[in-house]
Amino acid sequence: MASLDTDYLIVGAGATGLAFADTLLADSDAHITLVDRRDQPGGHWNGAYPFVRLHQPSAFYGVNSLPLGTGRKDTSGHNAGLYELASGTEVMAYFQQVMSQRLLASGRVRFLNLTEFMGFESGTATTRAGLNGAQHHITVRQKLVDARHFSPNIPATHPPQFKVGAGVRWVTPTGLASAALASRASPEAAHAARYCILGAGKTAMDVGVWLLESGVAPDSIHWVVPRDSWLINRRTTQPGMAFFEDAIGGQVKAMQAMAEATNVDDLFERLEAAGQMLRIDRNTRPTMFHYATMSEGEVALLRRIQQVIRLGRVTAIEPELLVLQQGRVAMHPDTLYIHCTASAVRPRASEPIFQPGKVVPQLVRAPLVTFSAAVCAHVEATYPDDASKNHLCTPVPFPKGLAGYVRSTQVSMLNQVRWNQDKALRSWMRDSRLDGFGQLTASVPPTDTDKLALLAALREQAAAAMANAPKLLEPTP
Ligand SMILES: Cc1cc2nc3c(=O)[nH]c(=O)nc-3n(C[C@H](O)[C@H](O)[C@H](O)COP(=O)(O)OP(=O)(O)OC[C@H]3O[C@@H](n4cnc5c(N)ncnc54)[C@H](O)[C@@H]3O)c2cc1C
Repeated sequence: MASLDTDYLIVGAGATGLAFADTLLADSDAHITLVDRRDQPGGHWNGAYPFVRLHQPSAFYGVNSLPLGTGRKDTSGHNAGLYELASGTEVMAYFQQVMSQRLLASGRVRFLNLTEFMGFESGTATTRAGLNGAQHHITVRQKLVDARHFSPNIPATHPPQFKVGAGVRWVTPTGLASAALASRASPEAAHAARYCILGAGKTAMDVGVWLLESGVAPDSIHWVVPRDSWLINRRTTQPGMAFFEDAIGGQVKAMQAMAEATNVDDLFERLEAAGQMLRIDRNTRPTMFHYATMSEGEVALLRRIQQVIRLGRVTAIEPELLVLQQGRVAMHPDTLYIHCTASAVRPRASEPIFQPGKVVPQLVRAPLVTFSAAVCAHVEATYPDDASKNHLCTPVPFPKGLAGYVRSTQVSMLNQVRWNQDKALRSWMRDSRLDGFGQLTASVPPTDTDKLALLAALREQAAAAMANAPKLLEPTP
């Protein structure tokens, strides 16, 4: 059994582990070891479907020290006019570049790929190499960093939880293109091709957009939607000065909605009226919100799918029958089912981020996963003890229902208030490329009275929103 040592051992070389490592490297002299059971850095992006893209602008995703993308705007497709969204391939190439050109090139980082983290006791971690099964003991001089809090499930690694009868054709989004091409072997087969999307999360929406953009007729598609979702309007997430009114003016409207809403449903309807939130079916009241972000064009496209099945989750698929929690639907025998039912967002329960001998990076501003990981690393490297670190970084719970949005916003804002009181931290954030709107607001010229007025309105409405949030969080009678 071989022995190694390190200052920080990071478990998970996904976006969280890499963003944490990158900032820790910049802000300390520490030696860092990353361990991951996968071969390549990038976490779940390794198993993503070919047509996946970021749903937020590339401009503020990834690690702090290296820009992702070129800051251009898309000129075609449903994101036209908005800042570029990296494809899955681009995200993977970017994370490989981060690993080789930033982390390993520093001489202070070791990456143990294909290695299973087995456990941690008395400052020593045990790992097992995937290829030869060799166990290692790693002495950790400072802290273990458990970067597995989010670890989203993806269809490629999470088989369906429903029964599939003999002869039923199903694929994950990864296999969709080749299965769809096989249906086009003859013009008759192509004409008869039927698709059924299972699930209503962001992956299912991406599949719907992909099918329609690939020329599949909307009436050839069924869509099983167990729950409808509110969606963030991507226009409101744009970082450039040209979008100041959409982004910061949008924040003002969102805060005003939270300040004036009488209950959570009323809040989301106000957010929709203000252009902040979108929903695919305007006649159905969504019950889910997971920060999925779409453009208005994508939502308009998805509205063309009319055969929407709202009978709960699928429990079984038989050759000509779909069995759901609340009913059965007759289906064409040639239907190709697309499994999008893995729950991409199922984070573990919140726990203190800074613990004796351990850091568990979590959201400190929803929904920015990589910004949050970088903040946790900066705070770890800069502040003296766990109490002062935890004071700055209350974990933001990921929303479970609609009220969860209010709670997540509330905790994100309370963190922001504490950050604003710390001049050095404020200045670090202003320089962070991951901070979404931070650089945008910091670069408003003192002569631009319109933008300064919007920033003042934001402060005023945010205070009013915080005052009203407890009322929105009261259980409904
Ligand atoms: C399709 C899709 C699109 C998304 N788009 C965005 C977006 O646009 N913006 C955004 O902010 N977020 C987005 N997300 C959310 C996403 O969760 C985060 O951006 C981020 O990629 C999560 O990274 P992670 O490191 O936390 O988890 P993961 O990527 O799951 O990484 C965790 C790593 O831990 C490793 N691991 C786990 N257990 C062990 C063990 N015992 N031993 C060794 N290794 C282990 C795993 O192999 C994995 O590589 C998206 C998610 C999905 C699924």
